[in-house]
Amino acid sequence: MKKWYQKLHWQILIGLVLGLIWGLVASVAGFTSFTVDYVKPIGTIFINLLKLIAVPLVLASLIVGVTSLNDMAKLSRMGGKTVAIYVVTTICAITIGLTVVNLIQPGDFLPEATQQELMSSYQQNIEGSSQSAKEVMDRSPLAFLVNIVPQNFFSSASDNGNMLQVVFVAILLGIGIIQIPKEKGEPLIAFFDSLNDVIIKIVDFVMLIAPYGVFALMAGVIVDLAGDDLGRALDLLGALGWYSLAVIIGLLLHVLIVYSSLFRLFSNMKFSDFFKAIRPAVLVGFSTSSSSATLPVTMERMEKNGGVDEEVSSFVLPIGATINMDGTSLYQAVAAVFISQALGLDLSIAQQITIVLTATLASIGTAGVPGAGIIMLVIVLQAIEVPVQGIALILGVDRILDMCRTAVNITGDAAVSVAVAHTEGLLGEMHLEDEE
Ligand code: ASP
Repeated sequence: MKKWYQKLHWQILIGLVLGLIWGLVASVAGFTSFTVDYVKPIGTIFINLLKLIAVPLVLASLIVGVTSLNDMAKLSRMGGKTVAIYVVTTICAITIGLTVVNLIQPGDFLPEATQQELMSSYQQNIEGSSQSAKEVMDRSPLAFLVNIVPQNFFSSASDNGNMLQVVFVAILLGIGIIQIPKEKGEPLIAFFDSLNDVIIKIVDFVMLIAPYGVFALMAGVIVDLAGDDLGRALDLLGALGWYSLAVIIGLLLHVLIVYSSLFRLFSNMKFSDFFKAIRPAVLVGFSTSSSSATLPVTMERMEKNGGVDEEVSSFVLPIGATINMDGTSLYQAVAAVFISQALGLDLSIAQQITIVLTATLASIGTAGVPGAGIIMLVIVLQAIEVPVQGIALILGVDRILDMCRTAVNITGDAAVSVAVAHTEGLLGEMHLEDEE
C-alpha cells in the first residue's frame, strides 16, 4: 500500500505548492535569473513531451475508436443512438462551461498590466505561427472549415501543425479502414491498437516527471510574472482559484441539470439510486484520473448494480470511455476562455461557437488517461488563435481538475448506458444492497 506522499496526485500537488513557493522566494531573494535559466527549462521539457505525444495519441486513439464501431456492426442502430446522445450531452456540457466562465470571468481577476505582459511574452510566437488579427478578421467565414482539411498530413503533424487536421485525418482513416474487407483492415486496426497502448504507456512515463514539470512551470510562471512585483504573482493565484471554481461549478451543474434530465427522459430509475450504483466507479475515476483504467469498474457496476444489460454496457461504455468526455469538454471550454481572458483577448461570439465545435472534437479525441484533456486543449486554442503557451498558466492546477472532470466523464458514460438500455428495453432492476 502506497503512503499518501507516494501517490502521483499528491506529488503533483506538492510540486505545485513548492513551485509557487520557489517562485515567490526567488522573486523576493533575487534569484530569478537562476530560476529562468535552470528551473524553467524543466517545465519546457515537460510541455514538449506532452506536445510530442499529442499527434500520435490523437491518431491512434481516434482510429481505434472509429474502427471499434465496426466490430459491433449488428448494433449499428444502438451505435447511432449512443453517439447521438454522447454528442448532445457533450454540447450541453460545453454550453454550461461557456456560460459559467463568461459569468465568472476568472481571467479578468488579473490586472490589465499583467494580461498585457503575458500576452506580449507570447506575442512573438503568435506572429511566428499564425496570421495577424487583421488577417483573421478578413478571412472568409468558411476559412475555418477549409482549415480543417489539410493538403499534406505531415505538415499537419509537424511542429506548427494543426491538431484539428490530425483529428480529421484520423476519422477519415478510421472510416476508410472499416470500409475495406475485414481481413485487410484488421492488421491496420491491430497496429493502431498497439500504437495506442504504447502511447498510453508513454503518457505514464511522462506523468512520472509531472511533479517536477509542474514545479518548474509554476516557479517559471511566478518568476516571469512577479519580477519585482509580488502582487502580480498573487493576482495570478487568485485568478487560478476562480478558474478552478468555474470548472467545478460547471461540472456540478452539468451533472445536476443534464444527467438528471436525461434520467427523467429515458428511464424510470431514481437519479440518487443511480449514484449509489456508480459511486465506486466515480471514486476510482477521481483517484486514477483515467476513464480507461476505470472502465472495468464502470461496466461491472452498471451490469451488476445498475440493471443495464451486458449487451448494452459492453458496447456503450467502452465507446464512451474513448469518445464521451463531458467533463473534459466542459473543462476545455472554460480553460480556453480563461486563457483568452488572462491574455486580455476578447472572444467574439463566432470564436465561442468555434469553441463548441472544437471542444466537442477535442474531447472525442481525448484518450481516457490522466492529463490527456490538457493536451487536446491545444486544438481549441489553435482554432481560436490564442497562444498555445497559455496552457502553462493552468497546468499547475490541472491534476486536481483532471480528477474532477474524469469523475464526470465516467458518470456521463454510465448515465448514457442507462438511457440506451431503457430505449432498447434492456434495462432491468437496480441492485443496491451490495453497493459497497
Ligand atoms: N483524464 C481524463 C479521463 O480519463 C481525460 C482528460 O484528461 O480530460 O477521462
